[in-house]
Amino acid sequence: MDLHGQRVAVVGGGVIGTLHAYLALRAGAEVVHLERDLSPHGATVRNFGLVWVSGRRAGAELALAQRSRDLWEEIAREVPGVGFRANGSLSVVRPGPEADLARAALGLPDAAERGFEWLDWDEARALNPVLIGEYEGALRCTRDAAVESRSALGALRDSMLATGQYRYEAQREVVAVSDGGVRDHRGEHHGADRTYLCVGAPTHGILRELHEGVGLTHVHLHMVETAPHSSVLSTSVANGDSFRYYPAFEGLRHLLGPQEPEAAAWANQLLVQQRLDGRLTIGDTHEVPSESEFWSSDAAYRVIERAAGAVIGELPELERRWTGIYLQIGDRDDPRLYYRAEVARDVWTVTGVGGRGMTCAPAIAEESFSD
Ligand SMILES: Cc1cc2nc3c(=O)[nH]c(=O)nc-3n(C[C@H](O)[C@H](O)[C@H](O)COP(=O)(O)OP(=O)(O)OC[C@H]3O[C@@H](n4cnc5c(N)ncnc54)[C@H](O)[C@@H]3O)c2cc1C
Repeated sequence: MDLHGQRVAVVGGGVIGTLHAYLALRAGAEVVHLERDLSPHGATVRNFGLVWVSGRRAGAELALAQRSRDLWEEIAREVPGVGFRANGSLSVVRPGPEADLARAALGLPDAAERGFEWLDWDEARALNPVLIGEYEGALRCTRDAAVESRSALGALRDSMLATGQYRYEAQREVVAVSDGGVRDHRGEHHGADRTYLCVGAPTHGILRELHEGVGLTHVHLHMVETAPHSSVLSTSVANGDSFRYYPAFEGLRHLLGPQEPEAAAWANQLLVQQRLDGRLTIGDTHEVPSESEFWSSDAAYRVIERAAGAVIGELPELERRWTGIYLQIGDRDDPRLYYRAEVARDVWTVTGVGGRGMTCAPAIAEESFSD
């Protein structure tokens, strides 16, 4: 879409908002970008930065992720601070049902498109020598990639500021939506030809109300981060429990037995991504947040640490723990890949959903401008 001569307003400085701003600018628009906090503190800066193709559901979801991965690579050539690297992933599997599932995944009709390969344990360890333990092997996905979520947002903003067509205003909380624009907490109206509300998973206020009654639920995740590891992890790493949660493996899940009870209690899977500074971002768990509890449980972090220790041995000192929330959409048969709705004339709310918002953000933004 050619947006020359148009004004675009974007609300929300996370990855969905930042990519909307970036692609609108690239299409010729003049862009104003509003963020509530001094710097974004939402799901984007709390995530792994995984551009995860391997787990996406066959069909439209996989196509969106593949397009998005290509866009990430292209955008990172323009803005190297995005930190894109095509490091691929290894999902390590124990002998028995997990290994059976991984081998069966090689027979999926889209296995080649995902870059699936089977590696025996010696081959997996040769590729990523940090791995330890007695595993049978690993399902490799050469299409999986990673970005540096926290620094990418700032790098993208800096590149946009250099165009002179982009204005970023932090500490501007949008409190009202009307035809053709929004009003912030200082009472200033921001009118535009097109306005995008990319506010993640708000827990209160009118922007949460915009998400009510449309089948969106909140999911709570626990994460940890270590001090820099002395070695380089050459790939992203997952364990066999990830097959239980990623929809790509739905049709093969009957091959798995029940999950170990402590991990099941937290809907835990292991994902590890090394940051460019050497730190390890490790997670995660999935729970529906309780309205009455404000704390995060220590037990969830212990489950994550134990799962990580089983695959990469003794962890460097744990430096940080945090929780994050993402939105989930409908049930598993819901065909919506993300949520976009026009909530006033020329004002749309757009949100990524599930653990794929980082992966799919560029393609979601591209689709916002393709009508
Ligand atoms: C722990 C965790 C790990 C994840 N890991 C991955 C992963 O590795 N790969 C992947 O693909 N996906 C992952 N996801 C999902 C992904 O992070 C999210 O889908 C994505 O970051 C959502 O981006 P967003 O821009 O919609 O929301 P956010 O990043 O939450 O940004 C929303 C922004 O809007 C601002 N805002 C809110 N209200 C207002 C207002 N009224 N006015 C102005 N500004 C406002 C907020 O301050 C915030 O900065 C993960 C999610 C979590 C929680």
